[in-house]
Amino acid sequence: MILLDRVTKVYNRNSTALDRISLHVEPKEFVIIIGASGAGKSTLLKLLTREERQTSGKIVIGGIDYDKLKDKNIPILRRKIGVVFQDFKLLPNKNVYENVAFALEIVGYGNNEIKHTVPRVLDIVGLKGKEKRMPMELSGGERQRVAIARAIVRQPKILIADEPTGNLDPKYAWDIIKILEKINRYGTTVLLTTHNQDIVNKLKRRVITIKDGRIVSDRANAEYNPGTSKI
Ligand code: ADP
Repeated sequence: MILLDRVTKVYNRNSTALDRISLHVEPKEFVIIIGASGAGKSTLLKLLTREERQTSGKIVIGGIDYDKLKDKNIPILRRKIGVVFQDFKLLPNKNVYENVAFALEIVGYGNNEIKHTVPRVLDIVGLKGKEKRMPMELSGGERQRVAIARAIVRQPKILIADEPTGNLDPKYAWDIIKILEKINRYGTTVLLTTHNQDIVNKLKRRVITIKDGRIVSDRANAEYNPGTSKI
């Protein structure tokens, strides 16, 4: 489903952010991507969401060849990929329900569909009963749940979670990871970047380590290994 073949990204003459990355992720996999700051993790995710374009190499996701993707079709691609960020990026003037509903409104969903879908998704992330709360009135963990609800409300095939627990206390971080696992069990491919060694060890999932723009290890059921990664 996600296929990268010798993908290179050069931002400018001095900075090769990714250097011939090859990668294959099956549908419904849960993959953790680790690596020190500056290793190239964000660049990899930005290539997948088409925020950035690769300098060379091939990217195919869900049958879409990125070389053949026209700008007008980028929204179709983005519907297949939900993204969650470290800093939540909620709309501060909209309440919990409205933040999630907005993701449907902007792509033209009707009122009935929105009323049907939003409560179901808020239930999945454990926010039932908090629909009217404003982002300011929520804990960090709850804000991240809203962001996850918003990311999955259009039922993407892939969920990218870029350091989703980076701003959270450890006890709330694990709640977020459990929600990601639940979403993965429902059939969504999850790509998670994290610096949290404890999470990597406990999840026991496939772990891809990036160093200086290259994949230096790719292991199933992996634990954090300070020999191969500096996180
Ligand atoms: P990570 O997410 O692992 O911290 P990044 O993908 O952000 O790593 O960065 C990888 C490399 O690419 C770094 O050397 C960084 O300085 C460089 N880089 C990232 N974004 C840009 C950009 N927009 N312009 C120039 N260089 C960039």
